[in-house]
Amino acid sequence: MKIIVPVKQVPEVAEVRVNEETGTLIREGVPSILNPFDEYAVEEAIKLKEAYDGEVTIITMGPPQAKEALWKALAMGADKAVHMTDRAFAGADTWATAYTLAQQIKKMEFDLVICGKQAIDGDTAQVGPELAELLSLPQICYVRNLEVDDGGKHVIAHRETDEGYDIVRARMPVLLTATKGLNEPRLPNIMGIMKAKQKPLEVIDAATLGTPEDEIGLKGSPTTVRKVFPPEKRAGGVKLEDVDAKTAAKQLVEFLAKKGAI
Ligand SMILES: Cc1cc2nc3c(=O)[nH]c(=O)nc-3n(C[C@H](O)[C@H](O)[C@H](O)COP(=O)(O)OP(=O)(O)OC[C@H]3O[C@@H](n4cnc5c(N)ncnc54)[C@H](O)[C@@H]3O)c2cc1C
Repeated sequence: MKIIVPVKQVPEVAEVRVNEETGTLIREGVPSILNPFDEYAVEEAIKLKEAYDGEVTIITMGPPQAKEALWKALAMGADKAVHMTDRAFAGADTWATAYTLAQQIKKMEFDLVICGKQAIDGDTAQVGPELAELLSLPQICYVRNLEVDDGGKHVIAHRETDEGYDIVRARMPVLLTATKGLNEPRLPNIMGIMKAKQKPLEVIDAATLGTPEDEIGLKGSPTTVRKVFPPEKRAGGVKLEDVDAKTAAKQLVEFLAKKGAI
């Protein structure tokens, strides 16, 4: 079974701050990590490879330092990696990101593509579904349980919804997006870390990809970011404390009436 896992290197979000004057993210000094949802995707791919034999290829589009995310996935047990990196890819919105990845994935053999459900920085959850469209694949998003059926021809996935979950069966090749609870991602062991940098890592630039420059990067991006700003801090609210239920109800009604809510 051949599995491709697109991954993104993201800033450790808990530490990201916004420059309120320029409206841009302050990335300096912020450590980068493999997107946590992509770790579930990598783990699931490795588990399937171990059970059904096959090969796991990790792919990322990102700046030179994004290879560290690839090494982490290789250290976990993936077999090889593809790093799409070029200044011409920079400034890509979700469409251009998915389009660029799709142009490369179309050249590769696969039965499954497993993405994370979303990147914890961009947070759009668009790249997976866009990739499925561009590759003309069926897609099952928010997968929290996965089985392979019919001797490796179908997958049966539990797809998380607001109400619970759907059980969906699809014929391979198919694209899945992985969510929390799908598995417990393994920590790379020392042997894995040592072997990671010896595993094949192919670097693809725009010329190698052979796609016109106006279809990639900023030029190929139909969306623009107008402004980035932190959400307004909420006021503390009003607490009705140390009063009996009857008084609290009276005070609540008075409060709502004052606000024009009743
Ligand atoms: C106009 C514009 C310009 C931008 N310029 C830049 C820029 O210069 N640099 C920058 O870092 N970001 C830039 N971004 C943000 C960038 O487009 C998004 O981060 C990216 O498209 C992925 O979207 P997301 O983070 O919401 O991922 P999601 O759609 O939430 O990610 C879902 C899944 O898709 C896969 N995935 C996502 N991104 C990648 C990737 N790059 N490689 C492989 N797999 C991936 C992963 O499996 C991930 O879990 C820009 C956005 C816009 C709108």
